[in-house]
Amino acid sequence: MTHQWQGVLREYADRLDVTDATPIVTLGEGGTPLIPAPALSRRTGAQVHIKFEGMNPTGSFKDRGMTMAISKAVEHGAKAVICASTGNTSASAAAYAAYAGIQSVVLVPEGKIAMGKLSQAIVHGARLLQVRGNFDDCLQIARELSANYPVHLVNSVNNDRIEGQKTASFEIVDVLGDAPDFHFIPVGNAGNYTAYTRGFVEDAEAGRTTRLPRMFGFQAVGAAPIVLGHPVKDPDTIATAIRIGNPASWELALAARDTTNGYFGAISDSTILEAQKILAAEVGIFVEPASAISVAGLLERAAAGVIPAGAVVTVTVTGHGLKDPQWGLRLADGSEAKPTVVAVDVAAVADAIGLKANA
Ligand SMILES: *Cc1c(COP(=O)(O)O)cnc(C)c1O
Repeated sequence: MTHQWQGVLREYADRLDVTDATPIVTLGEGGTPLIPAPALSRRTGAQVHIKFEGMNPTGSFKDRGMTMAISKAVEHGAKAVICASTGNTSASAAAYAAYAGIQSVVLVPEGKIAMGKLSQAIVHGARLLQVRGNFDDCLQIARELSANYPVHLVNSVNNDRIEGQKTASFEIVDVLGDAPDFHFIPVGNAGNYTAYTRGFVEDAEAGRTTRLPRMFGFQAVGAAPIVLGHPVKDPDTIATAIRIGNPASWELALAARDTTNGYFGAISDSTILEAQKILAAEVGIFVEPASAISVAGLLERAAAGVIPAGAVVTVTVTGHGLKDPQWGLRLADGSEAKPTVVAVDVAAVADAIGLKANA
């Protein structure tokens, strides 16, 4: 008999607020691979491992928080849930609401969400509204609706989301046997940065680890409110999942940075795309642009001399590249990759790929 991973609420039931009264709404999220990345270790001199969160059921880490948020919502009798989203939260909320048999309502910024994510929300049966505004506007409306109408908010301002997401740290510690020296992670609303820190702190307090990792978070240059120290009115980046001008977990994230001697940095869109290609071509992991920023952040900090040789480094890549596949087709010069067309002919194919026949 093989063991099937039971989802984060069952696997970590003793560390979460779940009881016999909690209906477990799960699609088997979590248990994602922590993949050693020799190519990145060579580039940085550290021991680099990638936590590939694109392997979750809807293709992003949002599923860890959503299993918790939807389970608790159903426990409390909710018949409908609402969220604002840059895409992945809506995909996840829609899938988990479908499993639970309740309605999901999602508010997304018009024209600013990746097609794969839009498709997921629709196919899972969400009521999807495109708002003529940005994510921060969507969140404001979702908050006010949930305060005044019978609909339960499942954004990461809901603490259940953070609780579910902290399980990723538990998994890293379970695999490595201790906490890493550094953890790199993308930052949008900073809920995940907060959640990882909470997981690592709880593991340290429980004596499962000997140290706290320094938490290094990265925002896109055009959407870097935490780095700048003030909200950004019109956030702009190709990394749509982190196109956030006024992070919901800002204060929590600053506290988490102080607890871990952490860091926030900003990365340009072109550097994000370079890192996406390096990860795909040298490690074999395809992630969406927002996820590649943590790899870009690692390369930048290593080049700055901040990462000691041999340090144990974990890097969360938050969502799958297939969510937003257009970026994989873009070549370095900005043009689109065009596969060569050949005749049905062995010699022609050999010629096209530069192979010479065996002597
Ligand atoms: C939601 C999301 C983020 C940002 O996470 P926060 O908790 O908002 O900081 C980063 N990458 C991807 C792919 C996401 O879906």
